[in-house]
Amino acid sequence: MKCPYCQHPDSRVVDSREAEDGKVTRRRRSCTQCSRRFTTVEEPVLAVVKRSGVSEPFSREKVVSGVRKACQGRPVDADSLALLAQKVEEAIRSRGAAEVPSHEVGLAILGPLRELDEVAYIRFASVYRSFSSLEDFEAEIASLRENGPSGSGARPVANVTASPPLPEGEPARLVEASP
Ligand SMILES: [Zn+2]
Repeated sequence: MKCPYCQHPDSRVVDSREAEDGKVTRRRRSCTQCSRRFTTVEEPVLAVVKRSGVSEPFSREKVVSGVRKACQGRPVDADSLALLAQKVEEAIRSRGAAEVPSHEVGLAILGPLRELDEVAYIRFASVYRSFSSLEDFEAEIASLRENGPSGSGARPVANVTASPPLPEGEPARLVEASP
């Protein structure tokens, strides 16, 4: 960790404590050259292993650039993409593994992207799951319709017998899905 003041590469740890429920470690450091102090917040490295066997650190930037193309022309702003990348990272880190295969990152993107924008989701899924025919698209769209606009594929559809209160922020079109 380089000193932010003089760029010296070496520092001494003067204090170390866990933060955010032990997910990160905050370290108070003292530069061995200029003696100024600074704090670092260190997260365990999450490695993504590509098909080639090469691993690289997980990067939210890469998640964003991976879905940006699918979101072209869609009403999806940079903040939503940043939030999506954050959700993906949280989902992957919550599994507690230090290494994940890259295809699992792709899988973890599908759910949040589906909630964000269905068209972008279909585009992304078609590439990611290598849709090869119209039937593949039809099946995916049918599943989107079945599960409702905000359905996350993993969750079973709730029984809609009474009229359930709409979750906050839910699009009004959800109403049309009720009997
Ligand atoms: Zn320094």
